[in-house]
Amino acid sequence: MRTYRAATTALTASVLVLALAGCGQSGTGGSKQEKSAEDSTIGIAMPTKSSERWIADGRNMVEQFEKLGYKTDLQYGEDDVDQQVSQIENMITKGVDVLVVAAIDGRALSDVLRQAADQGVKVISYDRLILGSPNVDYYASFDNEKVGVLQATYIVDKLGLKDGAKKGPFTIELFAGSPDDNNTRYFFQGAWKTLKPYIDSKQLVVRSGQTKLEQITTLRWDGGTAQKRMDDLLTKAYGSDSVDAVLSPYDGISIGILSALKSDGYGTAAKPYPVVTGQDAEVASVKSIIAGQQTQTVYKDTRALAKQAVQMADAVLGGKKPEVNDTTTYNNEVKVVPSFLLDPVSVDKSNYRSVLVDSGYIKASDLT
Ligand code: BGC
Repeated sequence: MRTYRAATTALTASVLVLALAGCGQSGTGGSKQEKSAEDSTIGIAMPTKSSERWIADGRNMVEQFEKLGYKTDLQYGEDDVDQQVSQIENMITKGVDVLVVAAIDGRALSDVLRQAADQGVKVISYDRLILGSPNVDYYASFDNEKVGVLQATYIVDKLGLKDGAKKGPFTIELFAGSPDDNNTRYFFQGAWKTLKPYIDSKQLVVRSGQTKLEQITTLRWDGGTAQKRMDDLLTKAYGSDSVDAVLSPYDGISIGILSALKSDGYGTAAKPYPVVTGQDAEVASVKSIIAGQQTQTVYKDTRALAKQAVQMADAVLGGKKPEVNDTTTYNNEVKVVPSFLLDPVSVDKSNYRSVLVDSGYIKASDLT
């Protein structure tokens, strides 16, 4: 009898505990972390629709969050920094529970993220690290330095620079991404450390002399800006000579560079295109690779990146620790942000089918 009563009391106590925990979830005075998926909204701030990858990133996250029951608010800042700031402000005002942000300008969000922190909104920095703010909780990205290493290694291999005979000299020009994107310096760092030994040995010659990051950046990753700079380089540094390789950090920039080359008479048997790298495996660039114009790109599976961001947000809201695999690399100048970094893959004509088409990332019919 006594045992029975003790068991009943214990049961009543645990029901009470569960009921109290349930009260927390109703949101009355509970913190954001205690809400259910159905009661939670994720604010997703993406930089621009002018590039395919960000459209896919947004779409993938919405799909994956909604599958778990979350509501989403997806906004694109169209490369306008103020617009992105006010979009994030609106999300906070509307009461989002987590923010996932791919910044246009990595340094422009400190104030708005302070507002987020004041409201208990956790922040996941998506692909591009947000700088100078303590209110960045997690970072989901790729191994960004490796992206640059892959691009530069492709050039080194394609020109045969590692061959014993010390081939060269070959001419090369260098392009980098937007100066306000933290990834830019990581991409270039990886590329530069890979190319430098061959520049030192004079197997590679940067004819323009422009090798410093601040000389080679491309504001907002704009293909037109890159095209103008390439036009200028060809006129001023090459004349009737040819450039053998162009380090390009992103497919949209590669397409601009290729337009300049085409206008200058490249793309014939007498004047073949140089080796031109890229990033993101965008359809236009993969088609260009198949057509023998752009040479290489770096594939970063945005589906997998979205999955990591979703995993992080879901864990944070469930009061759990998100899975991370790097706690040392990404210092945003205030703190090291715990990160999950994925692996980028080099793609050219020889493997685009197996890497991009067979994995379902690009439909074969989109490439015809
Ligand atoms: C991303 C790249 C992209 C570039 C331009 C970078 O932050 O990491 O994947 O090519 O932005 O959109």
